[in-house]
Amino acid sequence: MAAAYDSNNIFAKILRGEIPSKKVHESAHSLAFLDINPLAPVHVLVIPKGAYVDFDDFSARAPDAEIADYVKAIGDTARKVGVDADGYRLLSNCGANANQEVPHLHVHIFGGRMLGRMLKRDGE
Ligand code: AMP
Repeated sequence: MAAAYDSNNIFAKILRGEIPSKKVHESAHSLAFLDINPLAPVHVLVIPKGAYVDFDDFSARAPDAEIADYVKAIGDTARKVGVDADGYRLLSNCGANANQEVPHLHVHIFGGRMLGRMLKRDGE
């Protein structure tokens, strides 16, 4: 279960316009912007505008309209930045074992190069 939502997290501040972001796409319930420290030639974050800590919280509490909007916004963003043709990776860190740093749900879109295997095996 997710912890309580912290309205001072950095993405909440972006949503309130308190700190800048490089917007890529916006829909009724979702916002996409460039990751500040990109790990691939294309690295975009897509977040719901609602206050959800992580995927667990969102999938448990969000209304269907917000879930539908978010899924569509992720696909629309990928097409907008042009990674649909060659392929891309979606990743969402959820909680402690996944090393989630910002406690507001976000899906990373990675693309623009071959991304390799999704995870290293133990001992590699
Ligand atoms: P995660 O580890 O999945 O929580 O990833 C958090 C991501 O947020 C990292 O890839 C950071 O580079 C990114 N990030 C942190 N602060 C900002 C910011 N102000 N604007 C854009 N991306 C950010």
